[in-house]
Amino acid sequence: MKKCMIIGCGGVASVAIHKCCQNSEVFEGIMIASRTKSKCDALKEKLQPTTKTVIETAQVNADNVDELIALIESYKPDVVLNLALPYQDLTIMDACLATKTHYVDTANYEPLDTAKFEYKWQWAYRERFEKAGITALLGSGFDPGVTGVFSAYAMKHEFDEINYIDILDCNGGDHGYPFATNFNPEINIREVSAKGSYIEDGKWIETEPMEIKRVYNFKGVGEKDMYLLHHEELESLALNIKGIKRIRFFMTFGQSYLTHLKCLENVGMASIEPIMYEGKEIVPLQFLKAVLPDPASLGPRTVGKTNIGCIFRGKKDGKDKNYYLYNICDHQECYREVGSQAISYTTGVPAMIGAMMIMTGTWNKAGVYNIEEFDPDPFMEALNKWGLPWEEDFDPVLVD
Ligand code: NDP
Repeated sequence: MKKCMIIGCGGVASVAIHKCCQNSEVFEGIMIASRTKSKCDALKEKLQPTTKTVIETAQVNADNVDELIALIESYKPDVVLNLALPYQDLTIMDACLATKTHYVDTANYEPLDTAKFEYKWQWAYRERFEKAGITALLGSGFDPGVTGVFSAYAMKHEFDEINYIDILDCNGGDHGYPFATNFNPEINIREVSAKGSYIEDGKWIETEPMEIKRVYNFKGVGEKDMYLLHHEELESLALNIKGIKRIRFFMTFGQSYLTHLKCLENVGMASIEPIMYEGKEIVPLQFLKAVLPDPASLGPRTVGKTNIGCIFRGKKDGKDKNYYLYNICDHQECYREVGSQAISYTTGVPAMIGAMMIMTGTWNKAGVYNIEEFDPDPFMEALNKWGLPWEEDFDPVLVD
């Protein structure tokens, strides 16, 4: 029996689990293992009557390597799909190494106390994964994830060299709250309150947070303000795509979101420095998370669409060429299908597909790899089949 162990049972995991259950030919068995077992059991109760996939559940603390090893040894999955938080990446990779089990995640490791995400910690496992004969597929969400697959596809089919990539992440959804984050608030706020950066001529160029703003008219959404952010796939794409001179990442934010965030930052609520409060140490950002709406509760209220994709500029047969690959996803359609909004959907579907690529042996090489290092074609086909169809534009409006 082909089996996958999914760690975490939050917004993204819930979508991936729904999708595994729709795909029971590949996912004959899944184990949902997370910190709060009751969430895993509730999802099993909802989904088991609808699917041939045999669902098991377990409680696990993914910070504890021994606990993970014991669980993996007892369930014997073909692959572990890590949909907990970036802080757990290394402990789960350690457990995969010890049990010789393939590993897939959607976000790169980030130490709890520094808010600096980069690949060096996970790339350091390359040799050990190679020797163990197992694969670690890093960043199989949307961005990173589909953006890397889009880049590999553009490189394979449309260009001889790609010189410029602009990744545009637009969420045109409206949840009706003055302030809420679409995925884990702690991860989200750490990401957007950090300094921006992009890569030009092989060097990182740093900007102040939200310093660079552009306006773009997104198909399916309309005109939106977008801001340059640091984002993890810049680091791997700059290495893996031939001819890159500059690569940037932009994300849209509404004025209300930014005003609230600025205010929270100004009063210290977005800080990750622990403080003493009534004799107990608390991290302001973690406390803020506790009072904000749970991203999982946004599903029924969110209307509108997302549009995420990459604009490529480069050369084909000696001529300049521009090419835009993107996906448009509707929040309410996602909610009707799997009970989640589009942000979780656009991450959970590629997570299931990444695990499927490894489980079926379609992607099969030992070591630690970013997603753009594999053949993009089967993944692109699966995106169309499993709910994230892509569109192409051969004459896109460029970002200056
Ligand atoms: P959630 O906070 O909704 O879910 C996280 C889950 O992990 C929860 O079920 C939580 O348990 C569980 N968890 C946390 N710590 C542990 C632990 N120590 N042991 C076991 N389980 C634990 O997050 P999201 O679903 O929004 O995000 C999941 C991942 O997806 C994150 O890494 C995020 O960065 C990534 N992501 C990637 C994107 C991409 O495009 N690549 C986009 C969006 C997110 P509990 O229920 O007890 O809280």
